[in-house]
Amino acid sequence: MNIIQLLPDHVANQIAAGEVIQRPASAVKELLENALDAGANEIKLYIKDAGKTLIQIIDNGCGMSKEDAKICFERHATSKIKNANDLFNIKSMGFRGEALASIAAISHVELNSKLTEDELGTLLIIEGSEIKKNNECSSTNGTSIKVKNLFYNVPARRNFLKSDQVELRHITEEFCRVSLSNPKVKMQFFSNNNELYHLPQSNFRQRIVNVFGNKKNESLVPIEEQTSLVTLNGFIGKPESAKRTRGEQYFFVNNRFIKNNYLNHAIKKAFEEVIPQNYFPSYFINLSIDTNLIDINIHPSKTEIKFEDEKSIYAIIRATVKKSLGSYNIAPSIDFSQEQAFDIDISLRKSENIKEPVIKVDSNYNPFNDKKNKSYDDNREYLQENIIQEFTDKKIEKTFQIGNCYIVYPNDNGLLLIHQRRAHKRILFEYYKNAFKSEKSKSQTLLFPKSIKLNTNDIKIVSSIKNELNKIGFLFKIKKNELVFNGIPNECQETNLQPLIENIIEQNKISDEIKLDVKKNLAKSLAISLAISKQKKLSNDEQRMIKEELLKCESPSVCPSKKRTMINLRIEDLDKYF
Ligand code: ADP
Ligand code: MG
Repeated sequence: MNIIQLLPDHVANQIAAGEVIQRPASAVKELLENALDAGANEIKLYIKDAGKTLIQIIDNGCGMSKEDAKICFERHATSKIKNANDLFNIKSMGFRGEALASIAAISHVELNSKLTEDELGTLLIIEGSEIKKNNECSSTNGTSIKVKNLFYNVPARRNFLKSDQVELRHITEEFCRVSLSNPKVKMQFFSNNNELYHLPQSNFRQRIVNVFGNKKNESLVPIEEQTSLVTLNGFIGKPESAKRTRGEQYFFVNNRFIKNNYLNHAIKKAFEEVIPQNYFPSYFINLSIDTNLIDINIHPSKTEIKFEDEKSIYAIIRATVKKSLGSYNIAPSIDFSQEQAFDIDISLRKSENIKEPVIKVDSNYNPFNDKKNKSYDDNREYLQENIIQEFTDKKIEKTFQIGNCYIVYPNDNGLLLIHQRRAHKRILFEYYKNAFKSEKSKSQTLLFPKSIKLNTNDIKIVSSIKNELNKIGFLFKIKKNELVFNGIPNECQETNLQPLIENIIEQNKISDEIKLDVKKNLAKSLAISLAISKQKKLSNDEQRMIKEELLKCESPSVCPSKKRTMINLRIEDLDKYF
């Protein structure tokens, strides 16, 4: 009896979907890339419930004909390559013809598309690879595609999606990658009807600033190099803007975001002597290279690339970054030398092994010299001890909030201004750090055990930090793919347990990469997850509590991510404005 049979197309597509579409963010990436390939210069992304309910992308690109609109959902349907030779000369973002087929196999899709020259457009409704509707309809030029109920027929995937917060973070990351590599395209991003990003058409520098905020501008140093092999351009972050987490590292090859540890290492090497160990420089680098000299076709998500001459590219990147660091040192920018005491990331001064940069045009200049070697733990000094004392001792009668975000504490000499969320993060961070030292954990027993499902990998992470979690009040058993909680820390709410644990896992993944202390990291994730939001109305008592608890902290002036928690304005400071 014969037992082999060909898998039906919709099953094959579902299987392929597993590789291409792992989470809502992967669908967002593929759809944004399609819009770019269609030549759009305006793209809008709308999502609901972190993409679990809806992902919609509207572009003003070339659109599709009636026939193309239908066939684009077939597997291996692509307009981007015609024969195997084209594979060696890929100029578009897509070429595998897998994305739409995969997405259509695992969601409800609604496509609306129209070619500029056509009078009418096409409306197509597909559910699990099956065409349910195919009509002519009036539409605007370009394409709108709605992806609803992603993974509705793949419960294994759907159940293992993370909280909205985590999934939204992944989507945001994809959106940022695409928008940074395409500054000439106007891009907007709406989540549950809130506009998160509004990025007008601009140049690369403006786009970086629009994505990361105005403050970014002053820390950007341009880099540029042209060789027969590659052209490099973009920006690196000044050494003092380096961070402890690998965050703002963007490397684009021919407008495609790629991950490449080897080339990342080249940049790290160039920074080696000007930033402390365990810090990550930020960079936004475009590399243009002849498409014949690369092979993008090695990974379904197209974020990995093989270079023919990787060693030379390594050397060029390293030298170019070093050169820019060197020339930036000749003329320290105005904002750098005028920086006020509290603008400085104090933690940068902790490491003792900061050496002078090797490429030195001005051998007397060292960016770290003009700041005394204070350590992070010294940073009570950041707001002088006597000011902390002044606001600790005096009973402050009046306090009030600005924008439900900052708390103001006036006294006769001036005022103290506190960023409520960051302050609360600092308070919780120190609280949990101390909790690890104390013997007894403060835990509330749950009436009914609460279980949380996780994938195998995440379960492994949790079991590796189980002792620490127990210590601060998470009491649970591990059962195969489940954590069953009997007790949780007093400050936690049962309803927020799932996102909290997921955040801890995500943070742990990041910090594992950079070898952060487990306990400190755990305290930090708890602080980030449990701190009051950036905008929250607080009662007068709560406002007073924040100040009192904050000033008792060991390092009150910065939050665990080293951002400033408070400012003191004295009458002398105010006088300067008049
Ligand atoms: P690929 O991008 O690898 O070709 P996809 O499955 O992502 O594969 O898309 C299939 C085809 O559908 C594309 O090659 C393109 O011709 C067409 N297409 C997809 N999205 C759009 C869009 N937004 N505008 C115009 N054409 C599109
Ligand atoms: Mg595509």
